[in-house]
Amino acid sequence: MFSGDELIPRLSELYRTIDSTYGAAVHQVGFSCGGCDGVKCCTVDLTLHTFIEMLYLRRGFKTLESSIQLDILHRCRQIVKDKHDDPWGDAYRSAVCAVNFGGLCSLYEYRPMICRLAGVPHFFARPDGSTTQSEGCSRYETEIRSNHPELLMDRTQFYRGMASIELEIVRARGNRAQSRTVAETLVEENLEGWSPDFQVG
Ligand code: SF4
Repeated sequence: MFSGDELIPRLSELYRTIDSTYGAAVHQVGFSCGGCDGVKCCTVDLTLHTFIEMLYLRRGFKTLESSIQLDILHRCRQIVKDKHDDPWGDAYRSAVCAVNFGGLCSLYEYRPMICRLAGVPHFFARPDGSTTQSEGCSRYETEIRSNHPELLMDRTQFYRGMASIELEIVRARGNRAQSRTVAETLVEENLEGWSPDFQVG
């Protein structure tokens, strides 16, 4: 039976590569997220696009104390409701990611790739050969950019690595993941036919 857990070692290896590459880059320019409340980066509409990261985030959620799980689920349901009511309204737009407590990620070891790469200017190559480039977070742009205009992380290999892992699931499942926010990933009972335990077969 394919559960998706078989792919977690590959995901962990990819995350280690991302973390070490990111760590070396921010060390080089003297950038740190320390002291930031995460409000700008840990937004409610931060989105996961793969089953494998949804699975891993949910695995992490299950490791939390039940009182924290309940707190997070309460937040998630409110966030999902606010988004449903008015995705452009203040209630939704001003909220912070459901697993951010006091500026700290309660699922730090399980956080998605996009969170691991946040803050630093980057680019990636698309399959059609075009490239997309984005600047860093406001702190980076204010405090670091002028002294280190050269830093531009290439995310291409990371995105390709994630796509390669996800392809294994898509082949086994026969369908693709619908994109979801962190809150949606944690509260939805059924992800395109997968139960919370993600077992297939
Ligand atoms: S998962 Fe963690 S790091 Fe990512 S947005 Fe939420 S609180 Fe921030």
